Amino acid sequence: MTVLEGPVPSYTYRCPQCRTTSPRVLTYGLAVEQRDVHRDQAHGGHIPDGERIDVRQTQSWAEAGSLERGISVALVVVILLVLAYQTL
Ligand SMILES: [Zn+2]
Repeated sequence: MTVLEGPVPSYTYRCPQCRTTSPRVLTYGLAVEQRDVHRDQAHGGHIPDGERIDVRQTQSWAEAGSLERGISVALVVVILLVLAYQTL
């Protein structure tokens, strides 16, 4: 079993000409594939000015600080309360 340690990177391709962002993917190579498909389909193979691939470091639950965990739990509780209130 592979255990991921440290923040997990994820990637998105962004085209500012079309004002669009690809779905988030887990490897740089998959983001390059998203870029290439977009270039072909939306720009006829041309390279749009300002395009880029962004990387984001996603923190695991185990590594989150107590503030982040507390906020996450509080949000879930609020959502559940709102859903419960709407069904009454
Ligand atoms: Zn585009």
